Amino acid sequence: MRTDLFQGHDYFNMDDLLTEEQKLIRDAARAWVKQEVSPIIEEAAEKQVFPQHLLPGLGEIGAFGPYIPVEYGGAGLDQISYGLIMQELERCDSGLRSTASVQSSLVMYPIWKYGSEAQKMKYLPKLATGEWIGCFGLTEPDHGSNPGGMITSYVEDGDDVILNGAKMWISNAPFAQIAVVWAKNEEGRIHGLIVERGMEGFTTPTMKGKWSLRASDTGELIFDNVRVPKSNILTEKSGLGAPLGCLDSARFGIAWGAIGAALDCYDTALRYSKERIQFGKPIAAFQLQQKKLAEMITEITKAQLLTFRLGQLRNEGRATTAQISMAKRNNVDMAITIAREARQMLGAMGIMNEYPIMRHMMNLESVITYEGTHDIHLLITGMDITGENAFK
Ligand SMILES: Cc1cc2nc3c(=O)[nH]c(=O)nc-3n(C[C@H](O)[C@H](O)[C@H](O)COP(=O)(O)OP(=O)(O)OC[C@H]3O[C@@H](n4cnc5c(N)ncnc54)[C@H](O)[C@@H]3O)c2cc1C
Repeated sequence: MRTDLFQGHDYFNMDDLLTEEQKLIRDAARAWVKQEVSPIIEEAAEKQVFPQHLLPGLGEIGAFGPYIPVEYGGAGLDQISYGLIMQELERCDSGLRSTASVQSSLVMYPIWKYGSEAQKMKYLPKLATGEWIGCFGLTEPDHGSNPGGMITSYVEDGDDVILNGAKMWISNAPFAQIAVVWAKNEEGRIHGLIVERGMEGFTTPTMKGKWSLRASDTGELIFDNVRVPKSNILTEKSGLGAPLGCLDSARFGIAWGAIGAALDCYDTALRYSKERIQFGKPIAAFQLQQKKLAEMITEITKAQLLTFRLGQLRNEGRATTAQISMAKRNNVDMAITIAREARQMLGAMGIMNEYPIMRHMMNLESVITYEGTHDIHLLITGMDITGENAFK
C-alpha cells in the first residue's frame, strides 16, 4: 500500500484568491481522499472496479451536486468550490472524479435545470447522498463526436413512451439506479428521459478491457421496448442544447480535475528527483531535469489562473461554451504532457504502481477523449473566433 505524501503547490499564491470556505472545502476533500481513497486506489485500478463503498463518503464531502441548492439536498456551493472538489478527486484518480462529475453535472444538473419539481424532489436528495447513483447516456456506438445523429428514439403510448436504442461508453452504467438518457421523439427532437433500473427491457452490460479509467465502471445502456412513464421526461429543455448544457458543467469540472492529476505527477517527480542519486548527486541538480520541473510548474500555474478566472465567470453566469472548451482542452493536454514527462523523470520506477504517474497517464488518455475530444474542442475555439463551422 502506497503512502500518500502529496503536498499542494501554489506558485502564484492562488490561495489568496480563495475564500476561507473554499479553502476549507478543498482541504476537507483532500484529507478524505488521502485517508479513504489513496490506500485502495491502486488495487481498485488493477481489479478494474469502482470502489462503491466510497459513495456515502463522496456524498459527505459534497462531491455530488456541490452547486445544487440545499433544498434539493445539494451543498449550495459556488462553482469554484465545485472545481476545487473535482481537483482533489482527480489528484487521486480521474475515475474517482469521473464518478462525481457524472453524478453532479450529467445527472443532477439536468434534473435540476430541465426537470419538474416532482422529479427534483424524487431524485436529487438521494443522488446528493450517494444513496442512488446515476449515469448519462448520450454517446452511441455510431455517434460519438456527432451526438445529434443519435438513433435512440421513443414513440408515445398512452401515459408512457416506448424507448428503443443503445448507448455506449457510459460511466457508472453497470451499477447506476437511474440513467438520464437522450433520445429523439417522433418529430426527431432530442429529449432527456429518466430511465430507472428494473424497467423491463433495460440492461446495462459492463464494458471490460480498458487500460484507462480502470477504477471507474463503464458500460452500455440497452433499451429494448422499454416502457417509460411520460412523467419521467425532462420537459423544461429539449434539442441538442440540453445535453450540451450538461457537458459545459462537466467540462468545467474536468478543467479543474486535470490540474489535480498534473499536481500529483509534478509532486511525485519533484520529490523523487531530490531523493534519486545518480553520478553522485540528486537528479534534481541536473539542468535537464530542472527544465522539466520548471516547465511543469509553469504550465500548472497558467492552468490554475485560467481555471480560477473561468470559475469567476461561471459564478457570474458569463462563461461561454467556447471558454469552457478552451480550458478543458488546455488543462487536459497540460496534464497528459506533465504525466509523460514525470514518468520519464522516475526512470524505470515510473512504470511501477508504487507511484501514481502511470495510472494518471493512462487515465488522462480517456479524459482527453471524453466530453469532447481534444480536436473537437479545438474546432469549437476555431468556430468561435472565425465564425466558420469546420465540423462538417
Ligand atoms: C472511459 C470513457 C467514459 C465515457 N463516459 C461517457 C458517458 O458517461 N456518457 C456518454 O454519453 N459518453 C461517454 N463517453 C464517450 C465519449 O464522450 C466519446 O468517446 C467521445 O465523445 C468521442 O466519441 P468517439 O469515441 O465515438 O470518437 P469519434 O467521434 O469516432 O472520433 C474519432 C476521432 O475523430 C475525430 N473527429 C470526429 N469528428 C471530427 C470532425 N468533425 N473533425 C475533425 N476530427 C473529428 C475525433 O476528434 C477523434 O479523434 C466515455 C468515453 C470513455 C473513453
